Amino acid sequence: MVSSLLEIDLDKIKYNTAQVKKICGRQGIKVLGVTKGFSAIPQIVAAMVAGGVDGLADARMENIIKLRNYGFDQEMTLLRIPKLSNVADVVHYTNVSVNSEITVIKALSQAAGKLHSPHQIVLMIDVGDLREGVMAENVLATAKQISRLPGVRLIGLGTNMGCFGGVLPSINNLGLLVELGTCIEKQLGLQIEIISGGATSTLSLVETGIVPAGVNQLRIGEGILLGTDSTNNRKIPWLCDDAFLLRAEVIEFKAKPSVPIGDIGRDAFGNIPQFADEGLRKRAILALGKQDVNIEGITPIDENLKILGASSDHLIVDATDSAANIHVGDAICFRLNYSGILSASQSRYIGKKFYGGNYG
Ligand SMILES: *Cc1c(COP(=O)(O)O)cnc(C)c1O
Repeated sequence: MVSSLLEIDLDKIKYNTAQVKKICGRQGIKVLGVTKGFSAIPQIVAAMVAGGVDGLADARMENIIKLRNYGFDQEMTLLRIPKLSNVADVVHYTNVSVNSEITVIKALSQAAGKLHSPHQIVLMIDVGDLREGVMAENVLATAKQISRLPGVRLIGLGTNMGCFGGVLPSINNLGLLVELGTCIEKQLGLQIEIISGGATSTLSLVETGIVPAGVNQLRIGEGILLGTDSTNNRKIPWLCDDAFLLRAEVIEFKAKPSVPIGDIGRDAFGNIPQFADEGLRKRAILALGKQDVNIEGITPIDENLKILGASSDHLIVDATDSAANIHVGDAICFRLNYSGILSASQSRYIGKKFYGGNYG
């Protein structure tokens, strides 16, 4: 028996992928479908492939190995800079990895030699977000070092934004990436085939046609899944925002006071709760808790339902203002944001149900 269900409309995933491909394709930009946001559930990956992604990308080797075992043979990029302890798997299961440490790239070179399997490197450049990447002034020297290593080939430059520092993609920082690529080509005589200009947050520049010429790849997860761009705090108007839905079952429905009765200690997570007295309120308890999903990542579709709180296994919802006639056994539905999907997709307590075409 499954008490909660994550429903996924595969046609909407395919549609969103095709839309992103179309918009990017007009400007010569290829699209990697990023699968880490939903634990690389193969049915969803297949819908992305059906929508026309140019390759797949994930941050986790576990996900990549799973996809290879399912038979996905698309070009595969590892999006998190590799662990020194894991370079053999990276060479074995992926075609490309993003990198920023020469020590790791040397180890990849050795692994590639041992496995007789060449590996491609996208060098990450930190243009200001302060997550991974080589600083601009060190790019040329690092590229030179990589060019001398057997078994690995520097095929591109990439950057990541909006993740740690909240830096937005711009004409300037993407322009710098393109310039650095040109500089490497001229000074070292290497061919830089890929300029990977970020993720969903770069789509707004693609829409307005101001991505610097030369940027020819984006790595898209959130936009395809959710139709949102949280870095720019917007819904993307030309994408569906309802491919995912979470359903949970009501296990208690009663009118109760809004203020607890008795001496107040700590709640299940060590906090001292505060309550405003709003009299008697209709409250639904759902069989869904912090063990199942990041509660901050879900929103009731009925706007008049309000999440009051959650413990490990119970979600408490105020239903006083809702017109819905709620009973024990009913389902209440939620939209999810990125952290909601991330958590729900990997919960073994939440069933997965697929709608639309089967693209496997
Ligand atoms: C997660 C990730 C992406 C995808 O980002 P979205 O905002 O979901 O499109 C792209 N690149 C890297 C390096 C990532 O880690």
